[in-house]
Amino acid sequence: MTGYDLHTHSRASDGVYAPDALVARAAAAGIRTLALTDHDTTAGLAEGQAAARQHGLQLVAGVEISVTWEKRTLHLVGLAIDPTHAPLAAGLLELQQIRAQRARTIGQRLEKAGLPGIYEEACRLAGDGMMTRTHFAACIARRGLAADMRDVFNRYLSTGKPGHVPTCWVAMETAIGWIRGAGGIAVLAHPQRYKLSGGWLRRLAGEFRDMGGEAVEVLSGTAAPGDVQASADLARRHGLLASCGSDFHGPDEAWPKLGRLPALPAGLTPVWECWRAASPPPAPRPWP
Ligand code: AMP
Ligand code: MN
Ligand code: MN
Ligand code: MN
Repeated sequence: MTGYDLHTHSRASDGVYAPDALVARAAAAGIRTLALTDHDTTAGLAEGQAAARQHGLQLVAGVEISVTWEKRTLHLVGLAIDPTHAPLAAGLLELQQIRAQRARTIGQRLEKAGLPGIYEEACRLAGDGMMTRTHFAACIARRGLAADMRDVFNRYLSTGKPGHVPTCWVAMETAIGWIRGAGGIAVLAHPQRYKLSGGWLRRLAGEFRDMGGEAVEVLSGTAAPGDVQASADLARRHGLLASCGSDFHGPDEAWPKLGRLPALPAGLTPVWECWRAASPPPAPRPWP
């Protein structure tokens, strides 16, 4: 285990735990450096930082930004960002408005598909956090309409299904600009999840690097063993740093356990060797 987990979610978006509870769990799991990377929001970071000080772990300020590239939705993780940087904050606000509108449309479509009150139920579940498809999926699963979360996505929320709403997020270059402007490092998240061919993935990684992207998530909680090798090759070929993150959302069996990540494959430079944030993460206190 590396002691680093650079991709996690809290209740500020679609995670199960509040930021302070997430940090407590991470500390108990032996994580020494944790990035909180909620979808299109930095709202959980202040609470996370306070908890990190209590638990003696290093919290890296992060975000997972939804981008559109070649008509596909991709995710970029921003690490060691300054969340108060005005262009980043304004950009995230735009994405939050897109999310709110999209959630209303998802609700209307699911309602038509025979799920009355689903929007209100998903809103209650999300609370103050970003509305994501995960919230709709959890509500649908609770109604017993699918076997598990994956099944819900396949039946209701994936492309071509009743609750699917094609969404135009932000351009990849714009999101990279926000992250870099905020002193952070842009990471291409879970590259093997996009169902791209090898050729498309190489094109993506090349364009991402040319736009100022610096790292690729080589170890992701949801990756299969072959995926790790493919992502490692991508990092080497394009001269990208390597990141690792569980993409932890909660104790659900469908997701990996927080921080159970092996070491990075040899020959890669870990992203944490290159923090160059405007305000670098605080040094961790000695581990008890
Ligand atoms: P959104 O950004 O609102 O489209 O929601 C995307 C989130 O849905 C991802 O970050 C995952 O947490 C979750 N998700 C996507 N696909 C699946 C799946 N097949 N099973 C479970 N959760 C999923
Ligand atoms: Mn998510
Ligand atoms: Mn993601
Ligand atoms: Mn994620």
